[in-house]
Amino acid sequence: MTLLSSLVVYTDLDGTLLDHHSYSHAAAGPALALLRAHDVPVVLASSKTFPELAEIASELALEYPIIGENGAFVAWPVAFPLSADFDRERAGYRFRYFGRSYDGILKVLRLLRRYPGMAFSGFSDWGIDELMAHTGLERAAAERAAQREASEPILWEGSADDLGVLHRALEGYGLTLVKGGRFFHVMGPTSKRDAMCWLHANIERMQGRELQMVALGDGPNDMEMLEAADIAVVVTNPDSDAIAPQARRVLQTTLAGPAGWNEAMLQIAAEYNDRGQET
Ligand SMILES: [Mg+2]
Repeated sequence: MTLLSSLVVYTDLDGTLLDHHSYSHAAAGPALALLRAHDVPVVLASSKTFPELAEIASELALEYPIIGENGAFVAWPVAFPLSADFDRERAGYRFRYFGRSYDGILKVLRLLRRYPGMAFSGFSDWGIDELMAHTGLERAAAERAAQREASEPILWEGSADDLGVLHRALEGYGLTLVKGGRFFHVMGPTSKRDAMCWLHANIERMQGRELQMVALGDGPNDMEMLEAADIAVVVTNPDSDAIAPQARRVLQTTLAGPAGWNEAMLQIAAEYNDRGQET
């Protein structure tokens, strides 16, 4: 067993493993193949829904857990060695939910929208055509994005002051508002970091040993996840605000998106392999 097998990789998608513009992961191919050869789990962690993530995981031939809807759930393949309590089993995955139910979130949003200044609409208000127009997704992809379970992306059309009012009102209902790329996400009191820490503790328990968390991200909404990791990789994104997480070890890539992902993971893999040879 090499030291490389003591790593678990947690990664954001848009702007990190996927190119910000083309959504391609091709440039990360060499590092992904190396990690796969050493059976290092690569956990996708994103605001995307289960059908969207399952599609990407299958394209990448990743048979590992996934963290969806910004940490509102963790889903793991039935064959993945993890014995944790789960809420449901579907499409070959077991699901554990951490947030609030989608219906519960929509009820609060409908209530708040009656007040002046609360100018927003979200995925549940739109038909597929409108969703395609707002997201730029093609029909099949928009249909996958619409299958939400525990978070609602909304488009804010009001003032900055009123957004603050919405934020505080949601907190009063035990909900959080997370800023994504284009949308704000309304969800229960959980996060990608919380889901990552829960999953990591369970993988360690199953393997009966300590494992290292490597987290990769490109934007402000990845900060918490990066700061909780043993190794934080900041993937350069020329289209996003620069971030400077405080972690035990921080690597900043020179290349952007999947090419940066590849660069950082090959470097980390080489270090762990070398150390494995010495012991
Ligand atoms: Mg991102």
